[in-house]
Amino acid sequence: MVLVFLVILAFLAYAILGELERAQEVPAPAAGRCPGCSGTVEADWLICPRCRTQVMEPCGGCGQGTSRVHRFCPHCGTAKGAKP
Ligand SMILES: [Zn+2]
Ligand SMILES: [Zn+2]
Repeated sequence: MVLVFLVILAFLAYAILGELERAQEVPAPAAGRCPGCSGTVEADWLICPRCRTQVMEPCGGCGQGTSRVHRFCPHCGTAKGAKP
């Protein structure tokens, strides 16, 4: 009975370790990289919580976060720097 328990425990540990390895290999597709610390930042974050680098800037038209590399807001199409 103890042997069966150990086998199940080993299998679970193997499965969890494999899952962690896969999670490290493939970053979440919705998240981006902070240019300051290269940490993961969620798509709707404006500021990196690790180093306070501004990773997104609020759109002048709709106020939603837009990537600094985008010339137009992906939410409403307002051009960057344009007055609303
Ligand atoms: Zn950062
Ligand atoms: Zn917008």
